[in-house]
Order: sequence, then structure tokens, then C-alpha cells
Amino acid sequence: MAKPKRNEPCYCGSGLKYKKCHMRADQELERERREAVAAVRFLRQDLVDFAEDERFASAFAQALQQYWNGYYTLETADEMSEYEAQRFVDWFVFDYGLDEGAGGRNERLIETYRQERGDDLSSVQQEVIEQWLDAAPSDAYILTDYKGQTLHLQGFLSGDEVEVYEPAGRGNVDIGDVILARVLPVQDHLELSGGAAYLPQDEIADLREKLEAARATDAEAYPNATHDDFLRRHNHLLIHHALEQAERKGRPPVSRLAEA
Ligand SMILES: [Zn+2]
Repeated sequence: MAKPKRNEPCYCGSGLKYKKCHMRADQELERERREAVAAVRFLRQDLVDFAEDERFASAFAQALQQYWNGYYTLETADEMSEYEAQRFVDWFVFDYGLDEGAGGRNERLIETYRQERGDDLSSVQQEVIEQWLDAAPSDAYILTDYKGQTLHLQGFLSGDEVEVYEPAGRGNVDIGDVILARVLPVQDHLELSGGAAYLPQDEIADLREKLEAARATDAEAYPNATHDDFLRRHNHLLIHHALEQAERKGRPPVSRLAEA
């Protein structure tokens, strides 16, 4: 909506000039919005830089093995495409457990980051980090509906429904296909984080059976595990499944939502 000029009547119908009415409040909102956008951009990059620190090198190597299941190794890691690298680092930062903690709850890089750098962050940046700490792990979602850049998704296992904003829209994904992604709060809406991938319907195959078998085994070791706890320990299986299906079809693994 176009804003009135300073001396024009305010849009709210108060009869006052804009500068005497809603102008200040609008400017403040706009400033907050810009700050939030800048905070998100800063944190995405700062988390990646943090993850590249030398002291996480052995965790990085283990995570690479766990995630790619041999498709990429430490020696070939620089052959990952930009999207593959983005997707992997997103998982490494948000989901990967750095070391064995009590009850199998391992500290994640984003938690280490908050502890070590949290005090140096601005209050807006801190708010974003707190939201991200609580964000759901990377998961599988069925595309149930879409309108432009708004995608309606349903958790493949959980059945939970979410509505996400994706700037590129649904790309190549059809209703019924499965999107592999993290749903991350960004300001007042949800976005797909870290280079989402998808599984065409005919590649879903035995994914449900595999996940349910893994969940049953996980529940024996961790009877009180939530869906999110389970996913943090096992969501690399989603990528392994996608790799396996791609290999069967003889194409490069893990399609992106939108091809460049
Ligand atoms: Zn007004």
C-alpha cells in the first residue's frame, strides 16, 4: 500500500495529517522489519562461519559420513554443489548432535553458538536465535496444496499441517510429492531453510516403513523420545532414502525444489 505524503490525510480516516497520525508508528515498524531481515541474514552467515571452525573438524567429518552415507567423503566434499553444501551445513548446524549427552540428547552447534556468542548478539538477533533453537528438525512433508509462494504441507509421519512461504514457489514439486526440508520461523511466517529437496511420488517407495522401523528401534532405547528427538537422531535416513532412489534411477541425487 502506498503511504500518504507527510501533509496528506492519514489513511486511517482520523482526518489528521499523516505526519500527526500514523507516520511515526509506520516508520518504527519498517525499521523493526529491516532489523529483523538483517538479523536473519547475519545469523545464517555467522552460523556457517562458526561451524567451519577448526575445533569442529572431526565432528564435521563424522557428520559428513552420517549424512551422505559415502556419497561424498571428506576427500570429495568440495564437489558438493552449492545447494548440497547448504543443505548439509544446515543439518550440521541445526540437527547434528556434537557429542553424547545424557539421555541421548546431544548438544547441537546452534546451542554451542548461543552459549558462546549469545551475549554479543543484538536483542533482535537473540530473538531470532531463540526461535531457531526451538524450530523443528529437518523433516519430510507432503505437499497437499499451494497458492503462489504459499505451500501447504503435511508432516509425512506426524500428520501436522503447516503453511510455509517459499520465494521460488513449489518449483517442480507436484501435490502428493514429498519435500525434505526444515521449516524455520522467519519473522512472522515459516520458510523452508537450507536448500529444500523433494522426492517425486514414485520415489517415496518404502520411506514410511523405513522410518517407522527406525522409530520403533529408537523408542526401545529412548522410550520418552518425542517426534523431534527421534528426527534429530534419524533424519539423515531421509537423505539416504533419496540417494538410494536417485541411484536406482541413474540421476544425480536429491532434486532441488526449483531447478536453476
Ligand atoms: Zn492514522
